[in-house]
Amino acid sequence: MSTSELLIKSDKLAASTKSCLNAGEVALVGSGPGDAELLTVRAVRFIEQADVAIYDRLVSDEIMALLPEECEKYYVGKEQAKHCVPQDKINQLLVDYAKAGKRVLRLKGGDPFIFGRGGEEAEYMLERGVSCHICPGITAASGCTSYSGIPLTHRGVAQACTFVTGHIQNDGQLELPWSALANKGQTVVFYMGINTLPIIAEQLVKHGRDANTPAALIRKGTRPEQQTYRGTVGTLADLVEKHNITPPTLIVIGEVVSQLTDQNLAKPGFFDAEHFAQLDEKEVQSA
Ligand code: SAH
Repeated sequence: MSTSELLIKSDKLAASTKSCLNAGEVALVGSGPGDAELLTVRAVRFIEQADVAIYDRLVSDEIMALLPEECEKYYVGKEQAKHCVPQDKINQLLVDYAKAGKRVLRLKGGDPFIFGRGGEEAEYMLERGVSCHICPGITAASGCTSYSGIPLTHRGVAQACTFVTGHIQNDGQLELPWSALANKGQTVVFYMGINTLPIIAEQLVKHGRDANTPAALIRKGTRPEQQTYRGTVGTLADLVEKHNITPPTLIVIGEVVSQLTDQNLAKPGFFDAEHFAQLDEKEVQSA
């Protein structure tokens, strides 16, 4: 049974008329980090109503499979700095399809308003008289860390969490408030940072973050092929080289990375208590 069929089965949810996508409107929808089970109910409702879906590279196949059969699919994916369809063209497509009377689904990975250019697209549409629904999605920082057993905050360990882009700016620089990111009690999550990782690690240490701070790389988080590598700020760049890690990968820096050992993770997103008890026993025996 598909996710949408499951939802339709719930009478309570079916009675809701909140998320109606009308002809001539756009729904700017976050699809989360990949696992279709992490879609919101609102996202599934918009997906079901779409005449045309304009989607990015990070939208998983599993989620694409939920689109109605007759829905027209338009890929505008881009890889870092290598735009498949320029942003101006994407903006115009949204407006053109909406003005042609279609129910337009703008499907993006994670959350549309977190490093997703959703704000720019909404502005463009509104200025041209096109209404749009905004549907949040689980952002990669939240989904990938949860499925890797890393709490983004933890009492007494991390009192703050900051999401940062590691994407190099047009002037070729990576200008970030490095001193503000060096605070020990803060988890820092870098999106689009795999290519600039050596700069990130160097700048953090230069501005006072301990090179031994636990750190993790999560590639294709929440998907069946999820990979999590743990190390320290000082060893991350070597990990990337050794394992040939490519995007989409998230970088997580902070003491929280070593809070719960990944040996407890029976599979992504599942802590197995039985396995945990066995580990504990072994530790007691060896003590
Ligand atoms: N709007 C998206 C982020 C888009 S920026 C969101 O809220 O999640 C693209 C970057 O997000 C990637 O380069 C990577 O750093 C991160 N990312 C997105 N999905 C990911 C996934 N499933 N696993 C690991 N990183 C992911």
